[in-house]
Amino acid sequence: MKTHVQSKDWGLGLAGPLIIAGPCSAETPEQIEKICLEMKAQEMIPKVFRAGIWKPRTRPGSFEGIGEEGLPWMEIVRHHLNIPITTEVGNAAHVELALKHNIDILWVGARTTVNPFAVQEIAEALRGTDIPVMVKNPMNPDLQLWIGALERFHAVGITKLAAIHRGFSDSYDKKFRNKPNWSMPIHLKREWKGMEVVNDPSHIVGKREGLLETAQRAINFGLDGLMIETHHNPDKAWSDAAQQITPAALKALLAAIDFKETNG
Ligand code: PEP
Ligand code: MN
Repeated sequence: MKTHVQSKDWGLGLAGPLIIAGPCSAETPEQIEKICLEMKAQEMIPKVFRAGIWKPRTRPGSFEGIGEEGLPWMEIVRHHLNIPITTEVGNAAHVELALKHNIDILWVGARTTVNPFAVQEIAEALRGTDIPVMVKNPMNPDLQLWIGALERFHAVGITKLAAIHRGFSDSYDKKFRNKPNWSMPIHLKREWKGMEVVNDPSHIVGKREGLLETAQRAINFGLDGLMIETHHNPDKAWSDAAQQITPAALKALLAAIDFKETNG
């Protein structure tokens, strides 16, 4: 049986769902600081702070991430919030830099999970470490590919694993940026007992309206946490502006969710 260490034992505390928040992309040190200060002012401190440093975009021509320059800015988060930080890695060079700058948790994005060579390269770069890794579902609704990516990390000795459900690409769907296809995370949890799945309503819905409905469904289906893109000035965000919310809106959203519901 495949086993792994649950996120509650990653040093994140035992209580409550795994709430991950922060901007789609790290943009400037000022932006990171403003988000942290706003989270503090709202008393809306997530368990983990997210910020994309390298951004794989579907089409060229938009902001592709600040890159290595942004890694030291994560110290601003540590200074103000003192919480673990997560960023996306897409290759071994990203892993090396992220580890050098003490990023606490890594995640693999949907565009990387589809590529076993890339996943294996990242896994090899992590061999001998036990840094927590979260694997987003692949772009296409292929449960085996998702599990396979998690297995590649498990096989190199990563014991701290979680999955992120961010929906599945369908250019023609009107309601969702990425269709939730709820059977996927539910089957993942059945096939790999104990695997925690964090729902990412931001990338599923693709806009601010509707985040609550999707987040509530995730909780009702028994998913284990939420990753929500949060920015002090969402309309001016350099990526995914339409879906990011302010720390105040995040606080209201979480307050509106019934975390006790359990039946879909
Ligand atoms: C992100 O989290 O900002 C991101 C690029 O996500 P995904 O891999 O789910 O598209
Ligand atoms: Mn994003």
